[in-house]
Amino acid sequence: MRKKIVAGNWKMNLTLAQGEQLINDIVNAGLKLEDNQAVVIAPPFPYLQKAKSLTQHTEGFFIAAQNCAAEKSGAYTGEVSAEMLKSIGVDYVILGHSERREYFAESNATLAKKTDLVLANGMKPIFCCGEPLAIREAGTQNDYVAKQLEESLYHLPAEEFSKVVIAYEPIWAIGTGLTASAQQAQDMHAYIRSQIAAKYGREVAMHLTILYGGSAKPSNAQELFACEDVDGGLIGGASLVAADFTAIVKSF
Ligand code: PGA
Repeated sequence: MRKKIVAGNWKMNLTLAQGEQLINDIVNAGLKLEDNQAVVIAPPFPYLQKAKSLTQHTEGFFIAAQNCAAEKSGAYTGEVSAEMLKSIGVDYVILGHSERREYFAESNATLAKKTDLVLANGMKPIFCCGEPLAIREAGTQNDYVAKQLEESLYHLPAEEFSKVVIAYEPIWAIGTGLTASAQQAQDMHAYIRSQIAAKYGREVAMHLTILYGGSAKPSNAQELFACEDVDGGLIGGASLVAADFTAIVKSF
């Protein structure tokens, strides 16, 4: 059975005290996860260790970083390496979020390097892809996303690729309140799975977890998650409110 994930991407929000409160509220919400379901919390770097210690005894909970460096170690002031993240118990690393691509000029080639480092350190990448509005309006979103996957991931051998989680996040839906319709999400997820099947074979494609992200909330999570190829969500705004996030997790 495919792994289902709801991941909360806090982005650059909350103080330590607020973050602790949020995690405690989520952990104590009495969520009942099936064996193939996981909750992933992605707080800012300074809170990762705390987040790990608050969740490590709760079945099905994992911690993600929101980014990591593209270099292994050395004179890169202000950067945080994959090895450092591994050493504090991080499980997943979000890579290539559209905000990283846009504001920090992360290219597909840079993301290929980051992917390699995350995998080499025994963590799993949550690799984000997705098109801007102009591309959607031009109807070329499939080619756009295919190129992102190809240039950042297709150098991986199948065994390594199998550890990757993909998050499809149409940029026009992130933080805008504009959600992709369930049909639009399903169409793209099915397309991504077909591309992966063509590259890595059907078995790998069928086991690939593909998350949807972009204004997912309690009121639309159920419809999105009910789509055959949507295996959960990468949640931004709604992950900052315990009641909303737990309601989304319950929509599995
Ligand atoms: P949003 O963000 O849920 O606030 O739209 C999603 C994301 O950027 O991961």
